[in-house]
Amino acid sequence: MTLDGKHALVTGGGTGIGLAIARALAGAGAEVTITGRRAEGLDAAAGPRLHPQVMDVTDETSVARGVAAAVAARGPVQICIPNAGVAEGRALHKTDTEFWRRIMTTNLDGAFWTIRDCLHGMRRAEWGRVVAISSIAGLRGLKGASAYTASKHGLIGLVRALSEDYLGSGLTFNAVCPGYVDTEIVSRNAAAISERAGVTPDEARAMMIAANRHDRLIAPDEVAQAVLWLCGPGSGSVNGQCIEIAGGQV
Ligand code: NDP
Repeated sequence: MTLDGKHALVTGGGTGIGLAIARALAGAGAEVTITGRRAEGLDAAAGPRLHPQVMDVTDETSVARGVAAAVAARGPVQICIPNAGVAEGRALHKTDTEFWRRIMTTNLDGAFWTIRDCLHGMRRAEWGRVVAISSIAGLRGLKGASAYTASKHGLIGLVRALSEDYLGSGLTFNAVCPGYVDTEIVSRNAAAISERAGVTPDEARAMMIAANRHDRLIAPDEVAQAVLWLCGPGSGSVNGQCIEIAGGQV
């Protein structure tokens, strides 16, 4: 597969799943803009075909400026990967508006602004790929995480609606829905779950592993390979789909 000449933008591309996706796309020949809030993290992740761009997805103006800077440097974005997200759980009766807004703004508003601002180039080129990083929590309820679950369901709704809007246009919109992936989010959640459930961090990690049907954490590159395929020439008829990467049937 070659993505030579394509400009891809991956939000949250400096760490974890986003970095694995950015590296896979760059390995296939794309020039990849990686975005995040922390310049030092992005600079550490930068490399051949990986270009850092500071951009906060909770801030509409920051997204507009970040996408515009990337377009000015590398041309219209043709592959857009809304991946940036926060995964935190809290019982609804303990959820204040600030917590709810932080999850929804990062995971859903951020994807809306990023996709919208990348769409212009794709519409002009009559070719484009959008692959949103949702979660199994985008398809099912995740206990103790109502805001996160709602945000990830919303992301799938967004992608499905867009796949209808642009039918037959050369643009496709899909989502991938991973189970627990071996990134910092899992380590952070292990600490949070251990506190909430009164178990050790190791026991909390074991609970997350057991939630994946094949009883192991998923490697970030396993998610990246699915995204790479969705961005390539062989998947043009796959549109409006949510691909579970969770180790088994549910
Ligand atoms: P990371 O914590 O490594 O990645 C989160 C990324 O999002 C970071 O690069 C972070 O960069 C960026 N980010 C967070 N908030 C903002 C913001 N306001 N503006 C811009 N960037 C932001 O975890 P993962 O790689 O695991 O998570 C990536 C995605 O995958 C998330 O959407 C998550 O919900 C999803 N996911 C993860 C699973 C897992 O088990 N790991 C399972 C299913 C889905 P910075 O801090 O520099 O801004």
